[in-house]
Amino acid sequence: MSAAAPIFARVALDIPIAPWFDYLVPDELAGRLQARDWVLVPWGRGRRVGLVLEVGGPPELAPEKIRAIASLIAAAPRADAAWLELVNFAARYYHRHPGEIALPALPRLLRTPPTARARGCAFERARARSAAAGAAAADAAALATVTAQAAPAADGEPVQLNADQQAALDALLAAEGFSVHLLHGITGSGKTEVYLRWIARLLARDSSSQVLMLVPEIALTPQLAQRVSARFPDLEVAVLHSALGEADRAARWLSAADGRARLVIGTRFAVLAPLPALAAIVVDEEHDPSFRQQEGVHYSARDLAVVAASLRGIPVVLGSATPALESWFSVRRGRYQVLALPERATGAMLPNLRIVDARGVPGPAGLTEAGRIAMAGVLERGEQSLVFINRRGFSPVLSCQSCGWLSQCPDCSAYRVLHRAGARAKGGARYLLQCHHCGAASNVPRTCPECGNVDLQPLGAGTQRIEQELIALFPGARIGRLDRDVASRRGAAEQVLDSFHAGTLDIVVGTQMLAKGHDFQRLALVVVLDADAGLYAADFRAPERLFATLTQVSGRAGRAAPGVAPRGEVIVQTRYPEHPLFAALQAHDFRGFADALLEERREAGLPPFRYLALLRAEAAELDEALGFLAEAKRVAQLGAEAGTEIMVFDPVPMPMARIAGRARAQLLVDSPSRQQLHRFVDAWLARLGELTTRVRWQLEIDPNEI
Ligand code: ADP
Ligand code: ZN
Ligand code: ZN
Repeated sequence: MSAAAPIFARVALDIPIAPWFDYLVPDELAGRLQARDWVLVPWGRGRRVGLVLEVGGPPELAPEKIRAIASLIAAAPRADAAWLELVNFAARYYHRHPGEIALPALPRLLRTPPTARARGCAFERARARSAAAGAAAADAAALATVTAQAAPAADGEPVQLNADQQAALDALLAAEGFSVHLLHGITGSGKTEVYLRWIARLLARDSSSQVLMLVPEIALTPQLAQRVSARFPDLEVAVLHSALGEADRAARWLSAADGRARLVIGTRFAVLAPLPALAAIVVDEEHDPSFRQQEGVHYSARDLAVVAASLRGIPVVLGSATPALESWFSVRRGRYQVLALPERATGAMLPNLRIVDARGVPGPAGLTEAGRIAMAGVLERGEQSLVFINRRGFSPVLSCQSCGWLSQCPDCSAYRVLHRAGARAKGGARYLLQCHHCGAASNVPRTCPECGNVDLQPLGAGTQRIEQELIALFPGARIGRLDRDVASRRGAAEQVLDSFHAGTLDIVVGTQMLAKGHDFQRLALVVVLDADAGLYAADFRAPERLFATLTQVSGRAGRAAPGVAPRGEVIVQTRYPEHPLFAALQAHDFRGFADALLEERREAGLPPFRYLALLRAEAAELDEALGFLAEAKRVAQLGAEAGTEIMVFDPVPMPMARIAGRARAQLLVDSPSRQQLHRFVDAWLARLGELTTRVRWQLEIDPNEI
């Protein structure tokens, strides 16, 4: 045996320098090791977890330089072929190496090489944990903490689908092989009910199949998980979200990767979980920006879900009240089938929406007379209202009335936000200035740092100030708040949501955490303060996002059946009441709005009509970042193929030109052809790799913001 020719394997590692690394297959693994196995390999003086891409090919390195694989992680499930295809696709599409996609897809505990002192294998421990508790039971226990919620009618015993829901379900059940359906249903139209019926039928058809349901923010929508476990009490369900502890995450991920969990519900990273028996995918709230991964490899989980479905030849459903313009365009081009749910499932009407001119409103919170009267009426009737403002903290900036000083963050192109820290108790409030970009906080100066004036004033209002103002306006009311500051305290967000569901709060103030998914049964009125932030923003997607956010938050109002509650009301305060976005919003006319936006994008040469890549650079000085990008632009033009339509723009500072003391600039590339763009980027990246620079740069495909 010792004379046998050595066998080599190509192993992907999460190391950005090469697509794979050559390793020798040790004798004891010869004949056993296969592609898609997980292994431990030596790297430098340490070890790494890697994914075997190929066994038996010729090595690129000289054989005597090649080290041997340390061990096969026998307890790790061998990934399935379609999953590796997805990884390879993502690597090509986002111009990264397979290991940079595959390894971060593993939970941290499972991708960390064991230390010398570690007892047993991380996979075995995770499997033992998931088997002992049962992922489903663990979820049920977690859900048991969510108490006292008004149980929607459809829980447990299924309701009768309405005709639109039935038609949508029939279309989905008829789908064979790869297909993309866009379930375009207004808020409260019963989309979730359709997904659950479909999932139940698929899982019953094949007793080993799995379904993946991607959701934006499950930590804050326990209702969904609750509904699912009520509907599928005997099924192993794995819920994967970012708020899990590492051990739980590993256990649940493994129950999914082993094929034990039949239904996997997860946030964006779940799209990269290897599910061996995946039969269908649902992407709920498919327009949601949180489906974009913004660290490491910047991918779109929605786009990858569609690719995964096509690679496996299975159906995928994208659902939303306000589909992404890209998805809507695919409907218009006939690539996606649209299934419409134009009515609310409970028979409730969509809320009546009023656009109120907020110019010249007195008071820091800026509640208009109309808003105040409506809220007072709701309180009087014992109903609930929700006040939405997309800005946390007390006030977005502190100012000096005498010299004009503003609380600029010294390290960022942004103001430090005034926050009330600690309790609201009388006299007990303490304030600090915090930057929402670099996170740095400082004490509030007693006097103006520029002129010594003692009269520093907060300008404008965030959630904390609105809350304070509402307490003064409505002294008897029970008022709660929900934003990221509240949610950072363990259990605090759930407590606010539970109280609101249970009716022990009259008013809740908050950010978009309140906008998504919640099925508040007693909410009569939504007031949107300062809807204008997104209206004239530099980013081309801002109006699309604003329309989606306002539709979502409005959709929380008046959801209960007509006999149970009156029609909901929404008041949107704006200083630009004549803006066409508001007319479309008021008419609940997504299609008209989306078609008009598509036309604008076509004329302006923006996605989805053109394809973008964005090169971002970060350096100590702006000139350095811009200089690097100028050089990048120069090398981009060197190898330009004749006849290709690639447009390389000039380098510019980013809208947030400085964060944490680092200057940031960007260079945009666009093309009417996706293929041409990718060919260009491949050649360009090779040249960029040869530039020596201290500048940190990263290329993003299909950037979300430019
Ligand atoms: P969406 O996902 O579109 O927001 P949901 O599926 O959450 O809508 O449904 C909204 C509400 O309507 C829920 O309380 C749900 O229980 C209820 N519901 C759904 N379908 C029906 C139906 N066919 N008949 C009565 N109520 C329904
Ligand atoms: Zn001053
Ligand atoms: Zn800062």
